[in-house]
Amino acid sequence: MGLFDGLLRLLGGNRAPTDHGVYYYVRCTKCGEKIRFRVDLRWDLAPNYDGDDQASSFSVTKHIVGQKCFRPIEVTLDFDRNRKESRRSVTGGELITAEEYAAEEG
Ligand SMILES: [Zn+2]
Repeated sequence: MGLFDGLLRLLGGNRAPTDHGVYYYVRCTKCGEKIRFRVDLRWDLAPNYDGDDQASSFSVTKHIVGQKCFRPIEVTLDFDRNRKESRRSVTGGELITAEEYAAEEG
């Protein structure tokens, strides 16, 4: 995570410790463009209730549109009750790592 943290510091300046944003990176299947997007673990997650008062899980769907081909990439992330990611699915692209995002295309 060292590189990732370094990038965040580089790009974000002074980031408040209460920031619940998590960055994800996708690559467009159509044109190969790499796009970064942010999920706020506090505000973006929609709770799922299974008859309980307490949410049993959370999910968020993001539509990511790049600059090159304008095809939307749909990313759905599921989280457990502790807001830890439990499942991810992507249509129109694939999730990549921060390192892949930062790397130049060969
Ligand atoms: Zn594209």
